[in-house]
Amino acid sequence: MWNILNHLPLLIAVSCCALFQPLHAAWISGEEAIMGTKVNVQLWHLDKREGEAAVQAVIEEFQRLDHKLSPYIEHSELAIVNRVAASKPVVISEEFYRLLEASLEYSKLTKGAFDITFASIGHRYDYRKGIKPNNSTIDRTLPLIDYRNIRLVADNRTVSFEKPGVRIDLGGIAKGYAVDQGIELLRQRGIEHALISAGGDSRLLGDHRGRPWHIGIQAPRDKARMAAMLPLVDNAISTSGDYERFFERDGIRYHHIISPKTGRSADTLQSVTIIGPNATRTDALSTSVFVLGAEKGMALINRLQDVDAVIIDKDGKMNTSDGFADADSQ
Ligand code: AMP
Ligand code: MG
Repeated sequence: MWNILNHLPLLIAVSCCALFQPLHAAWISGEEAIMGTKVNVQLWHLDKREGEAAVQAVIEEFQRLDHKLSPYIEHSELAIVNRVAASKPVVISEEFYRLLEASLEYSKLTKGAFDITFASIGHRYDYRKGIKPNNSTIDRTLPLIDYRNIRLVADNRTVSFEKPGVRIDLGGIAKGYAVDQGIELLRQRGIEHALISAGGDSRLLGDHRGRPWHIGIQAPRDKARMAAMLPLVDNAISTSGDYERFFERDGIRYHHIISPKTGRSADTLQSVTIIGPNATRTDALSTSVFVLGAEKGMALINRLQDVDAVIIDKDGKMNTSDGFADADSQ
């Protein structure tokens, strides 16, 4: 005779499994305009509601960082530093201090190509309105662009500027940092497959469930076309291009990546893509290599063990770093 009691353990096990079965395992995504760009989050979660909460947490982290780092928000930490640091040292948060330290490290690594004091002249450009500083203003203010004008004192966690008129802007590193923060947040929630992108800066957590993610490099002069597609797993990728924010006048393209040597838009490349271990690094290096140009930029990337580059030059010709050749020959 079938005795229910004999089968009780099995029944309990089956119903428990049913209870804890993922109800809606799914890809979940979200998109929001933050930091002057489109922030996109995609993740795989066994529980739809928890997945949506994770997407929301990433969006809120971006908003928190925007309020801290934006030059356009009056009371952001960055805006306060820009107003005060030339007259006296400003005590700053640990996070802001670490970002400034990282920025200065990239300045040293790139021999000044990456320089957050570019903003001393950079703030005079308005790409939407087609406004640019004239030659005499650039000549007069060029000495303000120099990362050595930033003084950090670790003991009391202060920043000060050596000259009046110095300004900083973290636009070349902040999006990558925010992407890394978002990925860390997802990792802490146990998520194993995710993509976060903020404009040209992306990072992937794990793979796309059994296959790589495919990230496109936009053709710089044709928005509708990809110049290349890269299969990536657990990597970060950043692209800096002269087509993101720009205006043209008298045949000259004025865009948002400024050469600290000239105070003018860096003009030897169309785009630089860096692939590396985290987005803070790929973001800073993509901006840097754009300023350095093909030869010096590629030499730097080939010297660094953990990054690769795809450079598209003025003629639209694509150059790749040594890591791609190594991958091809394997
Ligand atoms: P990305 O799109 O990551 O290359 O960043 C471009 C942004 O970096 C610009 O919008 C500026 O905010 C900032 N930037 C421009 N020139 C420089 C530079 N030489 N060093 C550091 N940041 C820069
Ligand atoms: Mg960058």
